[in-house]
Amino acid sequence: MTAPVVVVGGDAAGMSAASKFKRDAPDREVVVFERGEWVSYGACGLPYYVKGAVETLEDLVSVTPEEFVEERGIDLRTNHEVTAIDRGARTVTVDGPDGEFEQSYSDLLVATGARAVEPPLDGMDKAGVFTLHSMGAGADIRQALGVETPSVDSREAAADYADAESPESVGIIGGGYVGIEMAEAFAERGLDVHLFEMLPHTLQPFGAEAAATVEDHLREQGIDLHLDTAVDGIRGDERVSAIAAGDADVPVDLALVGVGVAPNTELAEEAGIELGDTGAIATDEYGRTNDEHVYAAGDCAEATHAVTGEPDHVPLALTANRAGRAIGRTLAGDPTPVGEIVGTAAVKAFDLEVARTGLIDAERAREAGFDPASVTITTRSRAHYYPGGSEIEITMLGDRESGRVLGASMVGREGVAKRIDTVAAALHTEMTAHQLSYLDLAYAPPFSPVWDPVLTAAKVLEGKLE
Ligand SMILES: Cc1cc2nc3c(=O)[nH]c(=O)nc-3n(C[C@H](O)[C@H](O)[C@H](O)COP(=O)(O)OP(=O)(O)OC[C@H]3O[C@@H](n4cnc5c(N)ncnc54)[C@H](O)[C@@H]3O)c2cc1C
Repeated sequence: MTAPVVVVGGDAAGMSAASKFKRDAPDREVVVFERGEWVSYGACGLPYYVKGAVETLEDLVSVTPEEFVEERGIDLRTNHEVTAIDRGARTVTVDGPDGEFEQSYSDLLVATGARAVEPPLDGMDKAGVFTLHSMGAGADIRQALGVETPSVDSREAAADYADAESPESVGIIGGGYVGIEMAEAFAERGLDVHLFEMLPHTLQPFGAEAAATVEDHLREQGIDLHLDTAVDGIRGDERVSAIAAGDADVPVDLALVGVGVAPNTELAEEAGIELGDTGAIATDEYGRTNDEHVYAAGDCAEATHAVTGEPDHVPLALTANRAGRAIGRTLAGDPTPVGEIVGTAAVKAFDLEVARTGLIDAERAREAGFDPASVTITTRSRAHYYPGGSEIEITMLGDRESGRVLGASMVGREGVAKRIDTVAAALHTEMTAHQLSYLDLAYAPPFSPVWDPVLTAAKVLEGKLE
């Protein structure tokens, strides 16, 4: 009898793969091991859960474990951690509630995701210091805020903190997208928010222009920004009481550390699976690693960047879902590439939408062999006479030699987060600025000017590239 397909990790990449595999090969077995209790959950919604826009953790779940087992026929084992891979024997060692056992596989998918980076700061272990990467962490933060929260995975820190007085202020360390989304969540809960970023501006992947607009808006919303400010440590006795940065200690009652994620590669690496230069698992266009029976997908794996043609690591949800689905199909007998990425992302920052795709940084574009030039334009989200419109600022980067569009960032109050997708599509098809500026895009006064902001930016970029 053929051994089952085995999947390690039961979230976006793992469950997409298992579901697609089982749908396309209903007579074959797929076993998924997930070390936690939650599967198919939307970590992306956690900031909105803390904010209160999403009521319960269960609301973040797309498909329940029962549905996976009963309706999709997947052998899903939660609370089972895979601790080793024996590639020679094609088995994995699993640590479950009933002890350790070996499971053989025909093909294996490593979909172990990423984890929040915990920087080596003094005071990271104090009560009231959080990262946000798991459902349990989301529950812990709500509990620490004094919001009624049935938590399934509470850490001791939060339990300790629950006895304390309600926090009035928070220090967020890291001005990435999680830091910005959480600034809004904490402000909505009535806290004074201090946001610390060691670099001169927040939201690095979105570029300095978009970040400057966001920062003005954050200040308007009452967020205390500490830019160009490296945090030295977290002060307090048992509990956090201040963030130490430069010469000053800024008093806070809570700290959220959001300084990025690291791919969970240890399991694969210990089995001799190769990592790429980014530190994530190296894969081919089908998501296959250096072992033809071991695949990797999602936040733990690299993907090919369509603009640079190089392996990259941009840990985002669609990349994980898409690669998982493609691998499920491949394993069922229909070889399907996992698809390229262009790093398309969007963030809500209070009343602003910020979005980016492709290459925005001129230095990075030069390293990739381009001769970059960029333009920044400001235009309107609706026809100038139609009420309620607002400004959209677009920065677009192109290559002087080929005329190709390389990337863009956008910021505005409306019509930004999805408008970026037009540019993303142009990147996937290697359009020139001229070709992008002549796309037939929708127009009606409530939705855009006749020349959509993307068309205008491409037109101006074309002029600059000539
Ligand atoms: C706060 C937050 C906000 C986000 N917002 C966005 C957003 O707006 N847009 C966006 O595109 N992306 C966003 N993301 C990123 C997105 O959530 C991830 O890209 C996506 O979840 C990756 O899916 P994955 O399956 O690769 O990994 P994960 O979701 O990390 O799942 C991996 C799973 O593997 C399990 N696992 C790990 N090791 C083992 C083992 N040895 N044995 C068994 N199980 C194991 C883990 O418990 C975990 O459940 C956000 C993430 C966070 C934390």
